[in-house]
Amino acid sequence: MIVSQKQVIAALFLSVLALGSGHQLHAENAMEDETPRWSLAIHGGAGTLDPDKMTPELRVEYEAVLTEALEAGSAVLASGGSAVEAVQAAILPMEDSPLFNAGRGAVYTWDGTHELDASIMDGRDRSAGAIAGVSGIKNPILLAEAVRQDGRHVMLAGEGAEQFASGKGIETAPPEYFATERRQKALERMKAKELSSLDVDHKFGTVGAVALDMDGNLAAGTSTGGMTGKRWGRIGDSPIIGAGTYADNRSCAVSATGWGEFFIRVGVAQEICTRLRLDLGESPQVVADAVMAEVKQLGGDGGVILVTPEGDALFSFNTTGMYRGRADSTGLSEVAIFGGEENAGTADTPDH
Ligand code: ASP
Repeated sequence: MIVSQKQVIAALFLSVLALGSGHQLHAENAMEDETPRWSLAIHGGAGTLDPDKMTPELRVEYEAVLTEALEAGSAVLASGGSAVEAVQAAILPMEDSPLFNAGRGAVYTWDGTHELDASIMDGRDRSAGAIAGVSGIKNPILLAEAVRQDGRHVMLAGEGAEQFASGKGIETAPPEYFATERRQKALERMKAKELSSLDVDHKFGTVGAVALDMDGNLAAGTSTGGMTGKRWGRIGDSPIIGAGTYADNRSCAVSATGWGEFFIRVGVAQEICTRLRLDLGESPQVVADAVMAEVKQLGGDGGVILVTPEGDALFSFNTTGMYRGRADSTGLSEVAIFGGEENAGTADTPDH
């Protein structure tokens, strides 16, 4: 085929035009595109939170840690880090704060010690790590991650987990580090008045995070001190993959907080992900609310956070409040405490 010089110039001109308009289109699409490229949700526990007891000063303190957690996780995701890294980054400030029932602020066991539980899961390959009933570990989420990375096991408990931690160079802390007056008083009150842990733990201060990264991978993590006055090596849902934590790129990532025994019985985190994976035509919010309604039906309470592969970050709780926050690449960034403080839906409101 003979191509004239004029035709070549015209073709070049047209392709430059096409390229140019293509770029413009791309830019416009990016601006119009509301789908988040990364997304993050965090919680610092759900429970019977009383607005009258939440002084403005206390609220500022809680919001400051939630904001720090949200910003730490967001920074990882915005710079192209993985969801599993973001989950750890978001959990660390909450574990380091005495306000939440995880790491430093963990509740006391019946024997006056602290036994920590944590878990983490990567939705990319469903690799998971969990630790249960460990003492003296400053940041339990990092130990759970070390178990996940090691890969030989999913869950380690007690002294064995502590030995594993020392082999991996995980930072430890002395008992005084975990000693907080508020938690000590809760244990004393429980013993003196023969109360149940629920009577003294009006809120479940467990912490957790779920994330979607720019590569489309999901992850979830949860860390807790369990419930005040726990004994006999009691383990709740938080370190149990499928109950307190679950992540699967095909469906969602979930972290839970609440009365652990019920979350284990319902298999909350995996139940939500499985229903979404089966695509039964219900929205993620409807599915999360339905599973939380099951928890309530059995007599339990608490809440969940979840993030979907599309980047929707949702909350569902059947308590008066849940310390929570969410952020994504579209500029969304919010923290909230009581029900209905942001646009997210909440499950059935409590009657206690
Ligand atoms: N789910 C935790 C447990 O039962 C408690 C909490 O959420 O604060 O150990």
